[in-house]
Amino acid sequence: MYNYLVIGSGLFGSVFAHEVTKRGKKCLVIDRRNHVGGNIFTEQIEGINVHKYGAHIFHTNNKRIWDYVNQFAKFNRYTNTPVANYKGEIYNLPFNMNTFNKLWGVITPEEAKQKIEEQRKTANISTPNNLEEQAISLVGTDIYEKLIKGYTEKQWGRSAKELPPFIIRRLPVRFTYDNNYFNDKYQGIPIGGYTGIIKNMLKDIDVRLNVDFFEHREELEALADKVVFTGMVDQYYEYRFGVLDYRSLQFETKVIDSTDNFQGNAVINYTDRETPYTRIIEHKHFEFGTQDTTVITEEYPMEWKKNLEPYYPINNEKNNKIYKKYKELADKESKVIFGGRLATYKYYDMHQVIAEALTTVHRELLKSPSN
Ligand code: FAD
Ligand code: UDP
Repeated sequence: MYNYLVIGSGLFGSVFAHEVTKRGKKCLVIDRRNHVGGNIFTEQIEGINVHKYGAHIFHTNNKRIWDYVNQFAKFNRYTNTPVANYKGEIYNLPFNMNTFNKLWGVITPEEAKQKIEEQRKTANISTPNNLEEQAISLVGTDIYEKLIKGYTEKQWGRSAKELPPFIIRRLPVRFTYDNNYFNDKYQGIPIGGYTGIIKNMLKDIDVRLNVDFFEHREELEALADKVVFTGMVDQYYEYRFGVLDYRSLQFETKVIDSTDNFQGNAVINYTDRETPYTRIIEHKHFEFGTQDTTVITEEYPMEWKKNLEPYYPINNEKNNKIYKKYKELADKESKVIFGGRLATYKYYDMHQVIAEALTTVHRELLKSPSN
């Protein structure tokens, strides 16, 4: 009946389904959640588009990906400038001259560089082997202690010494007074939320919600020639090489009627270890909202266990080793395609997921005898 059964209506599954449908293939998209969009799903509360699974800011350096996503929505000019709150002290992020000035009183880039160099020398790190060493060698020990250590250890539930250096390299370090969290050329928030993007992608495609692939595996597989799987790769293979670790999150969303502006910024990070949440999002600021009321979400990190949603792969040595074994099996499949954050166990942002999906479609349709 179908050419493809797409498991997961997140960004990967939706881009894949949209592109192959455009080229004459027939898809059935299923999702175990009661809505499409996976983690980019947004929903209106009190007239405010609420990012139900945490703050999502679209950013990319790739014009092709920017043009691609702009087919499905109009984007605003939002620029992410999160603020860090360390025990009541406020610092600008990412690490830039505003941060260095507030922390050390330095005025010029030269002074800031000297300060970091002194701290790096004292810490005596040549090649950084873990997140802690990487952070200290990029920004010194003061910033590490106040803005990185506590946040990182609660976010990941592990010592920063056990985490890979690449995680902290996601953040720019800049010797200019520029609070833009991203270096990318293109950035914004889709006006009206992200769900509209997915709905546009899946227009005219069969979608079934509240369906877990593993509960109906045989009957679902019988419906299509091929499967596109965007869930957890270890679950697909019944955990035969062991369970991969993920970080999960709990989102506490609150409507606050008594104010129209709760925190003055879309994202505030709480970088001490003691505050149990990592950040508070005030959703209206993503779209410069002028509503009388406001909606906020606190983000509480926790270890993933069965029946929780997996949000972040934990790409340390132990898990990467296990994933490699699953990937070897996945690479041998001729009727199953694995894609997206969970099935490839990669800490992908949205633009990377779109790029991966487009490449997968290209490869897939070139291979197909009818094309
Ligand atoms: P998902 O969105 O996880 O979609 C997978 C779908 O598969 C889900 O809907 C799930 O329900 C479904 N599924 C899984 N298993 C089954 C099953 N057995 N049966 C049926 N359905 C199943 N990226 C950015 O670019 N900018 C940001 O600011 C940003 N912020 C983020 C903040 C947070 C808190 C998180 C968690 C991620 C953030 N990301 C951000 C990353 C972004 O969310 C991902 O890159 C993107 O959503 C991944 O899409 P996906 O399709 O791979 O996965
Ligand atoms: N990070 C930090 N302090 C901050 C913000 C980020 O130490 O105030 C570290 C933390 O380890 C985090 C990583 O940088 O996991 C990447 O941050 P990013 O904002 O990209 O995380 P995401 O939005 O993907 O959760």
